[in-house]
Amino acid sequence: MTELKNLLIRRIESTGPITLADYIAECLMHPEHGYYQTEQVFGSEGDFTTAPEVSQMFGEMIGLWFADRWVKMGRPAAINLVELGPGRGTLMADILRATEPVEDFQDAIAVHFIEASQRLRQEQANRVPLASWHDSLSGVPEGPALIIANEFFDALPIHQFEKREGQWFERMVGSHEGELGFLLGPAGPKLALAQEGLKNAADGSIVEVCPAALSLTGDISEHLNMHGGAALIIDYGYRTPATGDSFQALQRHEYVDAFAEPGAADLTAHVNFPALKKAAEEKGLKGFGATTQGLFLMAIGLGARAQVLASHGDATQQQQILSDLQRLTAPDQMGTLFKVLALQPHELPAPPGF
Ligand code: SAH
Repeated sequence: MTELKNLLIRRIESTGPITLADYIAECLMHPEHGYYQTEQVFGSEGDFTTAPEVSQMFGEMIGLWFADRWVKMGRPAAINLVELGPGRGTLMADILRATEPVEDFQDAIAVHFIEASQRLRQEQANRVPLASWHDSLSGVPEGPALIIANEFFDALPIHQFEKREGQWFERMVGSHEGELGFLLGPAGPKLALAQEGLKNAADGSIVEVCPAALSLTGDISEHLNMHGGAALIIDYGYRTPATGDSFQALQRHEYVDAFAEPGAADLTAHVNFPALKKAAEEKGLKGFGATTQGLFLMAIGLGARAQVLASHGDATQQQQILSDLQRLTAPDQMGTLFKVLALQPHELPAPPGF
């Protein structure tokens, strides 16, 4: 049994079942035993692979998208380039390399990372030594900001509610004979965050809400409203409000039981893009998308970038570039499941890619 499992069972035995959100937060972010603190998360040796780890082209295209936003903003002399959950720092390193030729851009930017894991902060420092680290967005200094979050929102804790005989209950995590599992409890106050339409769902339906994602989107929006800039949120998720259970646990590239070894598996849920867009628009921002990752990347020139890279490579490298391109954009790979949402103030010209 993992140490964390022991701790959680003891906590539940003494104070009662916990919400799924509490469970996810403990599993991912426990300061000692949390997943991001302890595990080799990324790559073929790890539990999952993200777009920047698939190919440098991903970060390069994102970098050029942000450089375009900066130009359209009138090339401010100082701007914060903020990444939420930078993982190994690969995406930012690719952004910085790709934007080197953009005149004055590198002089204007200051890189800020929002990262909870001390272990990952170390890895990020190896790739992007000049960054500053913060626990939350509120640590980022005032001023215009370009904000990127790739596979960050899916790690934020969700609540789940289930309808039984016309009534909503909250799916809680309880313990029984040394094992953790779901049980139903009275619906907590977060049910109010579910979209109205979903509340009329059929018996047996599950709805998910992510208060942390909504409040973070609110914070991003307030920052961009006040100081100007743009944000890009990329994640797997849905584009129309939906019911259903998207909570999943991944370990060594396989789906596993989310309660078997808390802290040892990556826990995620699909991101509710319409809810994020609404939260931003309520704060006066304009949202673009969500579109699919495949359409977005091709619209901003990934095809051309791949051709240039391939023209400098041998046959093996060309094959690799083609397969990376497929992986990032093909509908049966990351192209459709992953969505892209851009947020910016109304006065900034519309961004490319949507
Ligand atoms: N963006 C990277 C990594 C995605 S994994 C990539 O695309 O490869 C999620 C990242 O978010 C990790 O760096 C993890 O430590 C961080 N993270 C998750 N939840 C967090 C939270 N609540 N606060 C700060 N960082 C968090």
